Amino acid sequence: MADNGRLVFPFTAIVNQERMKRALILNAINFRIGGVLIRGERGTAKSTAARALAALLPDIDVVAGDAFGCDPHQPATWCTNCREHAAQGEKLPSYTRKVPFVELPVGATEDRVVGTLDIERAIQKGERHFEPGVLAAANRGILYVDEVNLLDDHIVDVLLDAAAMGVNTVEREGISFQHPARFILVGTMNPEEGDLRPQLLDRFALCVDVQGVRDARARMAIMERNLAFEQDPAGFYEEWLPQEMMLAERIEDARRLLPDVRYTRNDMSTIAEMMAGLGVDGHRADLVILKTFDEVQTSIAELDKMVASARDKASDVEAEQEDVSMYGDAAGEDRQKKA
Ligand SMILES: [Zn+2]
Repeated sequence: MADNGRLVFPFTAIVNQERMKRALILNAINFRIGGVLIRGERGTAKSTAARALAALLPDIDVVAGDAFGCDPHQPATWCTNCREHAAQGEKLPSYTRKVPFVELPVGATEDRVVGTLDIERAIQKGERHFEPGVLAAANRGILYVDEVNLLDDHIVDVLLDAAAMGVNTVEREGISFQHPARFILVGTMNPEEGDLRPQLLDRFALCVDVQGVRDARARMAIMERNLAFEQDPAGFYEEWLPQEMMLAERIEDARRLLPDVRYTRNDMSTIAEMMAGLGVDGHRADLVILKTFDEVQTSIAELDKMVASARDKASDVEAEQEDVSMYGDAAGEDRQKKA
């Protein structure tokens, strides 16, 4: 699918790197998970995967002429402008567009990230004008932050805050502006180039370590697919379209099922025991696993629907436990080191 008119490498054609792909898919299903930090050397498909995920996600309805990508069907999340227009009885026209993929510009300042209120204009003309920043552009999409470990701590803090809150509020001189900022935060870092402060590391919901593929056959597949894509992007995309569509549908189905998911005491006890066993410090990881566990259950529910052959209860339970331990690894990895 296209990213600014350019075809991007299909998500499902990425060889191996299952954990990274899983972590991205889980965030796509449930925005509330709070992002993913991908650690690994250069050339491990980190940026390709994030870009490909954005291209794969279903198109979104947005309010036309709105710089904040407000969802016409969710008035409770609207920006200050949309609220005011609606309060004045205006109808908000909408259109459908692709999910945004925004890369944090190198050297971005806090103003560039959160946006700015034009105070002079407010004083001189009595007009409120808000210049949207990166958070506005990324709303309902993916915000990709390369080499997050090399950023100013304060900026990382701002990004993580917005990702956790889902809104961005800017206040100056008694004037305030608010807009939705629900996005999937994807940070990458090369551990050889310095670490992220533990306090910040801890706030990324999921952390995945990626490595270059060691298996020769898989490396062949990577070369073949990259060459095929380079030679004929449209043809290659066409070839992968069925897989792409199947994954997109599964994500949509899981999103629909998400509000109905209930946690059982059994789920919580499994997670608590596992995290205690791993010697994990904080309690945030437990909650992240519980939230990601939703998706495990919903994907399993979906799988059950798709595969007509009934599976017996026992193998279901096994599959769930396997998945839980995988997310346990992902969310617990770093915290465990501090214990
Ligand atoms: Zn709006």
